[in-house]
Amino acid sequence: MKILVFFGKPGAGKGTQADLLKAHYNLVHISTGELFRYNMKNQTDLGKLAQSYMDAGDLVPDQVTIDMLEAEVDNNPNAAGFIFDGFPRTFAQAEALDRFLAEKKLSVSATIALEADDDVLVERLLKRGETSGRSDDQDETKIRNRFAEYNDKTALLKSYYQSQGKFYTIDGIGSLEAISQRLKNLIDGL
Ligand code: AMP
Repeated sequence: MKILVFFGKPGAGKGTQADLLKAHYNLVHISTGELFRYNMKNQTDLGKLAQSYMDAGDLVPDQVTIDMLEAEVDNNPNAAGFIFDGFPRTFAQAEALDRFLAEKKLSVSATIALEADDDVLVERLLKRGETSGRSDDQDETKIRNRFAEYNDKTALLKSYYQSQGKFYTIDGIGSLEAISQRLKNLIDGL
C-alpha cells in the first residue's frame, strides 16, 4: 500500500497537488486542515474546539488531531493507499502515525516536502484568501505565525523521516503541471 505524506509550509501546494495526483494513483486524500474546516462549518464539538487555534494560525492540540486522522483512515478500509496532506505536523503526530500504521502492518512509503520561498507563499496565500474566505489566509501576521509553527514544530520531522530513508524534497515553484510531473517522477521511482 502506498502511503505518502506531503510536507510544506502553508501555500506550498500540498492540497492542490494531492487533489491532482490522488486519481492518478488511486489514493485517498486526507487533509487534516480540510477536516477541521468541515467540522467548523458544521459547528461540531470538534470544529468548535479547533476554531480558536485555526483562527490564530496555531496548531490544534496533538491528541485531537491524531484521533481525527485515525478515525478518517479507519473510515476508508478499502483504500489502496493514502496521501496525508498537513499531517503529521509534530513529532508526537509522526510517532503516533508510525504506531497506528504498524498495528495494521503498514508504514509510510515516503514523505515529500514542497519547497518555496516565504515571500512567494505569503503572496499566494493572500491571493487565495480573497476567494477562499479563510480568515487564516487573509492576514499576514497569521500567515507568518503559521510559518513559525512550521519552522518550530514541523521542520524537525525532516530528520525523523531522513533517518528512516523516507524524506524527499521537490521544488514547489512552477506551473501546476510541472510540479505534478516532478512529483510523479519521484513517486514512480520509489
Ligand atoms: P492547512 O489547511 O493544512 O493549512 O491547516 C489549517 C489549520 O488547521 C492549521 O493552521 C492548524 O490550525 C490546523 N491543522 C491542520 N492540520 C493540523 C495538524 N496536523 N496538527 C495541528 N493542527 C493542524
